[in-house]
Amino acid sequence: MVTSRNPLIIGAGPAGLTAGIELVRRGVAPRIYESSTHVGGLARTVTDGVWRADPGGHRFFTQHEEIMDLWKSLLPHDQWIAVPRRSAMLVDRHLVPYPLVGRDLLTQLGVRSGVRGAGGLIWSRFRRGMRAIEKQQTFREWGIEEFGRHWYRMFFDGYVRKTWLADPDHLASDWANQRIKPIDWRRAGRRDATNQDVFRYPRLGPGQLWDAAAARLAEAGAAPCLDAHVLGLHHDGRNWTIELENGDTAAGDAVFTSMPLQMLVDMLKPAPPKHIRAIAATLRHRSLITVAVALPKAYEIPFNWVYTPGPEFQVGRVQNYGRWSPALAPDGFTGTHLGLEYFTLVHDDLWQADDDSLCEIVQQDLRMLGMGESDPEHIMIVRSQYAYPIYETGRERNVVRIRDYLRENHPALHPIGRNGMHRYDNQDHAMLSALRSVARYFGEQVDPWQVNTDLGYHETGLLRS
Ligand SMILES: Cc1cc2nc3c(=O)[nH]c(=O)nc-3n(C[C@H](O)[C@H](O)[C@H](O)COP(=O)(O)OP(=O)(O)OC[C@H]3O[C@@H](n4cnc5c(N)ncnc54)[C@H](O)[C@@H]3O)c2cc1C
Repeated sequence: MVTSRNPLIIGAGPAGLTAGIELVRRGVAPRIYESSTHVGGLARTVTDGVWRADPGGHRFFTQHEEIMDLWKSLLPHDQWIAVPRRSAMLVDRHLVPYPLVGRDLLTQLGVRSGVRGAGGLIWSRFRRGMRAIEKQQTFREWGIEEFGRHWYRMFFDGYVRKTWLADPDHLASDWANQRIKPIDWRRAGRRDATNQDVFRYPRLGPGQLWDAAAARLAEAGAAPCLDAHVLGLHHDGRNWTIELENGDTAAGDAVFTSMPLQMLVDMLKPAPPKHIRAIAATLRHRSLITVAVALPKAYEIPFNWVYTPGPEFQVGRVQNYGRWSPALAPDGFTGTHLGLEYFTLVHDDLWQADDDSLCEIVQQDLRMLGMGESDPEHIMIVRSQYAYPIYETGRERNVVRIRDYLRENHPALHPIGRNGMHRYDNQDHAMLSALRSVARYFGEQVDPWQVNTDLGYHETGLLRS
C-alpha cells in the first residue's frame, strides 16, 4: 500500500478493528495499539484451556446492512449459529419471561398482584395523557409511566439499582426506550408469528469474530500491537504522536480512539481548557465482574439469561451459556455452564475483592438459586473495568461540549465506539461509528455522532439470512 496517510488507532475492540478494516479497504494501513493482551475488547471470548466464556452475553443483531455484510465476510456461514432469545426475570421465586407479556403479568404472579399491576398501569397511562408538555424524565418517572408503579417496583427498580448502581431518581431515562421493551399485550398466536426473536452468535463466542478481524488485518500488514497501552497523545499543530507505556512513540496524521473519552481528554496535549477537563472528569463507568461457573449437575433452564433483581441475590444477571453455544464448554460436558454477572464501581469492595472472596459470593448466590449443592467443576473470573458508560443527568450535554471542542480544535482526532463516545453502544453501533469516522477522514460529509441516536431502535435481532 503506497499512501501518504498514516493513521493510528487506539484500541482493538469492535470499533478499533472495524476502523482498521475499513482503512485497509480504502488502501491505507493503520497502526493499531491495544492495552490488553487480546483483541475484541468487551466483546472478546475469554478462554482457559478448553473452557470459554462471554463476559457480557453478546447477541449479534443489527438493522444495518453494511454491518451484517461485514460480519458475514469475517466468519464463514458454518461458524454462525442461530440462537432463540429467551430471557426471564426471577421475582418472588417465579421465572417471568422477559420482555414482559401482559398475560403472564396478570396470571403468573397471583390474582392480587395482577390486579394491582393492571390498576397501576391504567393510572399511570391516565396521568401521562393529562401531562401537557414532554419533559426530560428520570428513569423512575419513565418506568412508572411505562409499567405502572407496581410492576415498575417489582421488575425494574431493584434491577436498575443493582445494575446501574444508582438511584433511579438520579438516572436519566434516555437509554431506557432503546433497552427496555414495553409490555406485550398481543395474543400468544400473533406474538409468536411476528416476534420470533432469534439472534446470531459465533459458535466460539463473540471473540471468534474479532479474532477473525485481527487475522484479516494481519494479512494486510496491519496486525494490532497488543500489550501496548497508550498513555499520552500529543498534537504539534500538524501531526499526532502517541506515547506508549513502554516508552515507544508513534506518529500519524490522524487518530481513531476507542479508549474512554475522559481518558482521552485527560492525556491530550496541549491540554484542553479547564472547563472541558472538568466536564470530562465527571464521566464515569460501571464495571462488571463475570464469573463463569461450570456445575457438574445438569439443571434445566429454558432461558439464555435470567435477571435477578431481588436483594436476596448479589448477582444481577445470570447467563446460561449452554443456551448460547454448547461449544463454550468442552466436548462431553453434561453439566450447567453459567456466567454470573456482578455490577460494581471501581472503588467498591466488590471490585477490590480477591478471587477467594468472590467465589464465596458466587457460592452464596448459587445456593439462593437452588444450585449450591456441589462444587463447581471450573471457574473463570473476568473483570471489565469500563463496561458501561454511566448515563447520569447532564451526560448528553457534557459529551456534546467535549465533542464540539474536539471537532473544532482537532478535526483529525476521531473518538469512536462505546467508551470513545461515552455512549451505550452495542457492537453494531460501535462499528458504525468507526465506519463513519473513516469516511469523514476521507473527506465525506458524514457525522459519526449521529449513529445510535434513534430512540426507537430496539434490540429485536430478527434473524436474517
Ligand atoms: C455486559 C455487556 C453485555 C453486552 N451485550 C451486547 C450484546 O448483546 N450485543 C452487542 O452487540 N453488544 C453488547 N455489548 C456491547 C459491546 O461489548 C460493545 O458495544 C463493544 O465491545 C464496543 O466496542 P468498542 O471497540 O467501542 O469498545 P471496547 O470493546 O471497550 O474496546 C475498546 C478497546 O480499547 C482498549 N483500550 C482502552 N484504553 C486504551 C489505551 N489507553 N491504550 C490502548 N488500548 C486501550 C481496551 O483494552 C479495549 O480492548 C455488551 C457489553 C456489555 C458490557
